[in-house]
Amino acid sequence: MPSVPSIPELLDRKRWGGRLSRDELERLVGGYVHGEVPDYQVSAWLMAVCCHGLDRQELADLTDLMARSGRMLDLRPVGRPVVDKHSTGGVGDKLSLIVVPLVAALGVAVAKLSGRGLGFTGGTLDKLESFAGLTVDLSPDQFIRQIAQTGAAIAGQTPDLAPADGKLYALRDVTGTVGSIPLIASSVMSKKLAGGAPAIVLDVKQGRGAFMRDLEEARTLAELMVDIGRAAGRQVTAFVSDMDRPLGRCVGNALEVREAIEVLGGAQADARLVDLATTVAGEMLRLGGAASTAEEGRERAAEVLSQGAGLGKLREIVAAQGGDPAPIDDLILLPTAPVLADVTSTSAGFVVDVEPLAIAQAANRLGAGRARKGDPIDHAVGLELLRSPGDPVERGDVLARIHAASERQASEATAAVRQAIVLGGQPPALRPIVLDRVSSHQ
Ligand code: URA
Repeated sequence: MPSVPSIPELLDRKRWGGRLSRDELERLVGGYVHGEVPDYQVSAWLMAVCCHGLDRQELADLTDLMARSGRMLDLRPVGRPVVDKHSTGGVGDKLSLIVVPLVAALGVAVAKLSGRGLGFTGGTLDKLESFAGLTVDLSPDQFIRQIAQTGAAIAGQTPDLAPADGKLYALRDVTGTVGSIPLIASSVMSKKLAGGAPAIVLDVKQGRGAFMRDLEEARTLAELMVDIGRAAGRQVTAFVSDMDRPLGRCVGNALEVREAIEVLGGAQADARLVDLATTVAGEMLRLGGAASTAEEGRERAAEVLSQGAGLGKLREIVAAQGGDPAPIDDLILLPTAPVLADVTSTSAGFVVDVEPLAIAQAANRLGAGRARKGDPIDHAVGLELLRSPGDPVERGDVLARIHAASERQASEATAAVRQAIVLGGQPPALRPIVLDRVSSHQ
């Protein structure tokens, strides 16, 4: 009988670009989750994966092992089509706050497992907690019950859902191994598979405000995630969308909730945000069987937006999760910052760039984000972008408005945001918001 290779032998094989079988991955990753394999050995494997990648079978096996490291939710008790949606993270990305109630209002249930903001990216859970009293800590049974009763729930990942991802992600974070396409694909998809939805819409962000800076890499990530979902018997569509500038007009938790409420209420909104929201919602409706084509789904979503019908569903979701929905009817009740400061234009011309990373960093320094897991955040602070790339400006026009906790922070943010908004003599070439689409089921 052939002898079982030791962990150092597996690492050596991967270091030379070889592959590990499912059993071998189970010994390494499963052993790590159970405390039998130390983190220095898993770190070495992660770095070898960053250098050599994983082949398709290894990626499918790894994702499946990670998904099955905890509970696999069974959403059949919901009794109707259920879809999930996930973004790889960006700046000003309040899409889930819009599409979840919108899709649920049209009869397709949404099981949304979300994350918190970390690094420069914002998180849906932090934004939602701008509603006083709202909890995102739902047990799997509460999560499923709420979806059955309300049509949607937005909750945080529980410790027994894909725990291997929780452990591996924390290790990647401190070993320089976050930015690997197969590791991101397995991380995202293990959570989506464990979350139980038979249909999943992914929003892969690409640009300077995203993990994926390169368009080809973003396409590869989208294709890999769709392949993983297809192999696991799920319907998956991945959009690649532009994150080379912030999404929408607001960055900051309560400010983004306000913008989402305005969009759901049919107010005059940022056209790119509405475009992406209706595209993603339309695809969710198609996969959930409420529309026969994505275009029909998109039209239905746009109609509901213009009628403001998604707001009623948002009210129900907030109330079901113990939150006070009153701000939905009276925006003034959302947390507000004590200091407002305007960033004005020092010259005339056109906005040629709004640098997303600098905007995110300015918002985080105001207190909207956290540097480390568990840090407190200030829901009220952030910034509004009142001019977008392509807009003409006159000298003295207000380009952005800062919402800060103190005069000192407002003045630091004003300087940073002024630098992040670049003016020029000619309007720039603008990219569309949706850059690509990959689907398991055309
Ligand atoms: N989002 C995830 O869930 N995992 C990653 O690795 C990156 C983004």
